[in-house]
Amino acid sequence: MKTIGHWVDGAEVSSTSGRTAPVYNPATGEQTGEVVLADLQEAAQAIASAKQAAAGWRTASLSRRAEVLFSFRQLLHDHADELAAIVTAEHGKVLADAGGELARGLENVEFATGVSHLLKGGFSEQAATDVDVYSIRQPLGVVAGITPFNFPVMVPLWMCANAIAAGNAFILKPSEKDPSASLLLAKLWQQAGLPDGVFTVLQGDKVAVDAILESPDIAAVSFVGSTPIAKYIYETGTRNGKRVQALGGAKNHMVVLPDADIEMAADAAVSAAYGAAGERCMAISVVLAVGDAGDRLTDAIAKRLPALVIGDGATPGTDMGPLISAEHRDKVAGYIGQGADAGATVVTDGRSAVVPENGFFLGTTLLDHVTPEMTVYQEEIFGPVLCVVRAETYEEAVALINANQYANGTAIYTRDGGAARRFQYDVEVGMVGINVPIPVPVSYYSFGGWKASLFGDTHMYGPEGLAFYTRGKVVTSRWPDPATSEVDLGFPRTR
Ligand code: NAD
Repeated sequence: MKTIGHWVDGAEVSSTSGRTAPVYNPATGEQTGEVVLADLQEAAQAIASAKQAAAGWRTASLSRRAEVLFSFRQLLHDHADELAAIVTAEHGKVLADAGGELARGLENVEFATGVSHLLKGGFSEQAATDVDVYSIRQPLGVVAGITPFNFPVMVPLWMCANAIAAGNAFILKPSEKDPSASLLLAKLWQQAGLPDGVFTVLQGDKVAVDAILESPDIAAVSFVGSTPIAKYIYETGTRNGKRVQALGGAKNHMVVLPDADIEMAADAAVSAAYGAAGERCMAISVVLAVGDAGDRLTDAIAKRLPALVIGDGATPGTDMGPLISAEHRDKVAGYIGQGADAGATVVTDGRSAVVPENGFFLGTTLLDHVTPEMTVYQEEIFGPVLCVVRAETYEEAVALINANQYANGTAIYTRDGGAARRFQYDVEVGMVGINVPIPVPVSYYSFGGWKASLFGDTHMYGPEGLAFYTRGKVVTSRWPDPATSEVDLGFPRTR
């Protein structure tokens, strides 16, 4: 059984903390490794190494940084299959989905290769007589990223590409459930020519996270995970004087208007609800069927479910893999019972699906006639359970979305451009899809929800990500003839 260590100063290092966590292959249920869990001393060593590296990396020219990013991009391409296999083996998602995760992560590296252009400041000649003013953006120093289990490659790439391009050292604290991909990322950064210590992996749990949040040497923390932890990270990190962007959980609604192409909407709902076994922060977990769309849509979704192949994600032809752990599988299964008890119609029951015996599998579940006071509606299930809520009108549908505590993503299916335009304007959600079920923005926009789906004011990656990892400085400059100098106690004017 392998031991998964930290990555500090350009090498994998073991731990002396005496604490580890098991890592499973969710498709077989077998423990395949154990990840070390940092103690305070190990966290301090990792942070000290990053601090030292940050001072040097800051001086690297923009062209040099871009060169490293271009190499890193190529290496990610070259190791795409290996990375996908690692993700599938520890997360469970099917290989094609793991490849998709890498592809969307890669976009962020590609964005960051443009660092020379992206970090250009402004320049105003003659802002006052013989005075020029210009702005520059400088790195923060050491920044950290704390990531969830559901995207062990993509979410770290959301963060580290921009953080490193901006001249910072980056410490990744991956999820302890699928930590191996982080070490391959570290090796690829090193092969790309990144100086040792600029990318660090600190494996661990709350102890490592708290060490990051308490450290005076870490300037900023990016977090992606569940809402209660996101809130904790935001409150603790900001109390300690750090910049924090903390992305939380979700309950993404897909509105289907009666004029929508129901077959197309059903395809989208099934893909977005059950892909990655529903363990995506942008998964559709609620379909809001408006007017007479309800019966047609529920039938069309239900009709598609028996065809989905559930099994080991590493086996070609599999559509849906297992859940991350036995506990999580049981928790999700519990929601199905709660939904039924509360009066929802269980159209398809994932608990009775024929699934591989070993491993953390659960079939697909479709709950119809779900109502807003039900727990299955209110809580993030994070599994292959799709709830259909009926709404009489468009207004009722939008009011429901806007009343929800979560506001990560949402989508509308319609052929009416005016309705879609109105939805985009009305809905209080950070990312909106129009006939697009999973509207994850491309890397040159930024990713983020509203309300309990994001704590902080900067969205992740893209222009906002780069702004998050840098701080602005404005320089006012003049080169007067000393002979003209005199004492003037007046406040400087520009005209
Ligand atoms: P999680 O909150 O349990 O864990 C996320 C990270 O926080 C991990 O690195 C974990 O080690 C750490 N952590 C866990 N408990 C902690 C504690 N008590 N104190 C300090 N640190 C702690 O989330 P998860 O189960 O890994 O991921 C699933 C969740 O992430 C879902 O809620 C999902 O919606 C959310 N998510 C959100 C987005 C988004 O963009 N908004 C993206 C992906 C996942």
